[in-house]
Amino acid sequence: MRPFTYTRARSAHEAVTAFATSTADRPHYLSGGTALIDLMKLSVETPGRIIDLTDVPDLDFVREEDGDLIVGALTRMSDVANHPLVGARCPALVESLRSGASQQLRNMARVGGNLLQRTRCGYFRSVEFPCNKRQPGSGCSALGGLNRGHAILGGSDHCIAVYPSDWAVALTAFDASVAVVGPNGTRSVSIHDLIVPPGDTPDRETTLAPGELITAIRVPTSPAARSSTYRKVGDRSSYAFALASAAVGLHLDAAGAVGEVRIALGGLGTVPWRAWDAERALVGARLDDASVRAALEPEFRSARTTAQNAFRVGLGVETVVEAVAIAKESAS
Ligand code: SF4
Repeated sequence: MRPFTYTRARSAHEAVTAFATSTADRPHYLSGGTALIDLMKLSVETPGRIIDLTDVPDLDFVREEDGDLIVGALTRMSDVANHPLVGARCPALVESLRSGASQQLRNMARVGGNLLQRTRCGYFRSVEFPCNKRQPGSGCSALGGLNRGHAILGGSDHCIAVYPSDWAVALTAFDASVAVVGPNGTRSVSIHDLIVPPGDTPDRETTLAPGELITAIRVPTSPAARSSTYRKVGDRSSYAFALASAAVGLHLDAAGAVGEVRIALGGLGTVPWRAWDAERALVGARLDDASVRAALEPEFRSARTTAQNAFRVGLGVETVVEAVAIAKESAS
């Protein structure tokens, strides 16, 4: 681990000012620390200054505002998962949080930092391998290497790393947004615009400007959110990243046809993948497994697979089919 200076911020404003005025290379905010400290030990992250947010008050809460669910960015994953308001409003959010990491990690990690966690690509985490995300222009070791768990959706010739957060997939299904504060003031960013695919610049992972800090997450009211679920398939049933996952919400009309459906895919893409085409195809339909499979077909037309990971197209489809069946049960 490299030397760094440390600042404990007492407010979001103090944290942003500390970042903006830092003379050290690569200043970095610290919340739960469950991802950053790991990467510092591996010399993947080498911040010259740590700005600790854990004493910042007023960013640890769950509440309702104008009918929307609002979660403070420094709320622990486990506290959000256990909050009755979240479970009543959107079970998929709770299930996504509980499917991530371990109980010990969920007791430490904060929901804002969770959105900004970096990929689990083994080449990214091993400094002896070329990696465009860690060192732009050095190459992508995964393209011709071990890529069973890499992205089949949204990749580029420069990076095929999977975006890892389960929580972000559920937030994507329900059109969440994040409140941000930074050197130039406050703004709101849709979750769809927050996390970006690698393209030619895989080192750029979000649309946050340097020094911007997520302060809260807003999830709008949605009838489909109340009958929702998050399904995840991995090599183990716990403490493993997704090979495929799906957040699904469903609202049926009085005749039993689909009034509203939300589908987001995880573990398959370089970003949380909203299945817009499938949703459009299913509105008004009477749901069965065959109609869901047919609706998903266009989503995977753009999939770029290898011999190692082609099986995850079918896995992704069947994960959604299972999630839709569970949501339907709840919506009926
Ligand atoms: Fe690096 Fe992305 Fe390639 Fe992994 S997939 S080695 S993160 S460039």
